[in-house]
Amino acid sequence: MDTGSTASGAGGAGVRGGRGVSDASTADTTDYRLDGQAAIESLRGAFSGRLLTEPQDTAPYLLDYRKRWRGAAMAVAMPDSTEDVVGIVRWCRQRQVGVVPQGGNTGLTGGSVPDRSGRSVLLSLARMNRIRSVDPLNNTITVEAGCVLQRVQETAAEAGRLFPLSLAAQGTCTIGGNLSTNAGGVQVIRFGNARELCLGLEVVTATGEIWDGLKGLRKDNTGYDLRDLFIGAEGTLGIITAAVLKLFPLPVAKVAALAGVTSPQAALQLLELAQNRLGSSLTAFELISSDALALVLKHFPGSRLPVETPSTWYVLVELSDLDSDQHANEAMENLLSAALETGLVPDAAVSASIDQFRQFWALRENISEAQSAEGKNIKHDISVPISRIPDFIEQTDAEIQAAHPETRMIVFGHLGDGNLHYNVSPGPGLPPGDDDAFLALEGPINRIAHDAVVRFGGSISAEHGLGILRRDESARYKQPVEVAMMRAIKQALDPQGLMNPGKYLPD
Ligand SMILES: Cc1cc2nc3c(=O)[nH]c(=O)nc-3n(C[C@H](O)[C@H](O)[C@H](O)COP(=O)(O)OP(=O)(O)OC[C@H]3O[C@@H](n4cnc5c(N)ncnc54)[C@H](O)[C@@H]3O)c2cc1C
Repeated sequence: MDTGSTASGAGGAGVRGGRGVSDASTADTTDYRLDGQAAIESLRGAFSGRLLTEPQDTAPYLLDYRKRWRGAAMAVAMPDSTEDVVGIVRWCRQRQVGVVPQGGNTGLTGGSVPDRSGRSVLLSLARMNRIRSVDPLNNTITVEAGCVLQRVQETAAEAGRLFPLSLAAQGTCTIGGNLSTNAGGVQVIRFGNARELCLGLEVVTATGEIWDGLKGLRKDNTGYDLRDLFIGAEGTLGIITAAVLKLFPLPVAKVAALAGVTSPQAALQLLELAQNRLGSSLTAFELISSDALALVLKHFPGSRLPVETPSTWYVLVELSDLDSDQHANEAMENLLSAALETGLVPDAAVSASIDQFRQFWALRENISEAQSAEGKNIKHDISVPISRIPDFIEQTDAEIQAAHPETRMIVFGHLGDGNLHYNVSPGPGLPPGDDDAFLALEGPINRIAHDAVVRFGGSISAEHGLGILRRDESARYKQPVEVAMMRAIKQALDPQGLMNPGKYLPD
């Protein structure tokens, strides 16, 4: 463990929060001005976890996943316990230092890295990764915020239960990050977002107090829902340190089908048919354009299209079954037969093994990486009412192509949730490799796409949050009364504005 001695004066016992020490808000006459090494030493003494200060150690924490934002920090603090988090938050509060929480650093909007001022502490929850308990009869698991999502899924499975949150970053992202961004993923159609999977939270507030809301209750109507306030707040109100999560019965069988469809409208009709026939067995329904699929086939050797007749659009359907493989296969085949008979689906393939199931899913999950292999792209993570998706795609594609014919659309996403990854890549009209020329179009293309989203009654950030990427744009599209209420909440819970400064709320 990388701890040092407490410097005299600054820091010291007064900030060792959570250990019976006075609250940070009580009168304190110590001179807390920051002066380089002394400040670091006092921070080191404020908690018992690890502190990284060398540039080669801190660098990976200061660059976001998409390598778009590089920040600076006084240090990277890695607490081992909730009391450690209290110590760090109180230390920062006394010195007016910002606190930037970070989980797996897989967020896509720049929320998990500090600004360039170097006046924040990056608080990584990576070492707070214990499973505190599993209660199969209550169908709950209690975990620390730094638990990697995949480990939570695996621990639940060992107990014969399903934790259904599922996304391509699950080997790296953490429960704290999932809750703070209210992550979605591929099973929202059946189980809901991270918010709907969480029953209780433990939080270290901006004032350095612990709120123990770790209740495993499905019913609790005793006041404002503080849990829901912290979920989706992207670390701007406090630090989530642990959570009680919902578990479900573990399916016995899973089967996937890849079906060609002639249009998003046909995909929507297939969704209705699937919902009517499969009910709660339908666990994913993804839309993929043929252009998006073509990128995966090009950049991932060994990948292949499992259907013979090419289509302009495809749908990936997943069914989870509590009975048997046979039952699952029959249900999927019945669905597809009905769709083939009505002409909704020209061709479809059903996974015949777990390997094939994974291959079908790889066609969907590798789209982002395949798109990046082609160069820079302009991403939109949007939602509109499911029924309006076909019209949205038709009208917005036409608008963007009319204004910027040198680009091409790469569209895919969670059709069952009304959530599209509505992306734009350089087309043949742009010189290959000229990222600057392409990225100069980002502002104008965002404006067309997001204005259309709002016209269609949608949201400009469906599951990735606001961070820094969508912070200012969100103000353009939110009602003034909404922004005012958000500011009032921020002011009430973080009056000094030290929790993840510069993110989420426009200046
Ligand atoms: C390949 C890939 C696929 C993805 N697919 C999806 C998808 O399908 N659906 C989806 O919703 N997202 C997706 N994402 C985005 C990302 O994985 C999620 O947003 C994830 O929930 C972030 O978790 P994290 O631990 O990496 O959080 P980070 O990136 O570390 O942080 C995200 C935000 O949460 C805050 N935060 C982190 N931990 C805490 C905490 N303990 N307390 C308070 N605030 C905290 C950070 O300050 C930041 O604002 C994907 C990302 C990648 C790279």
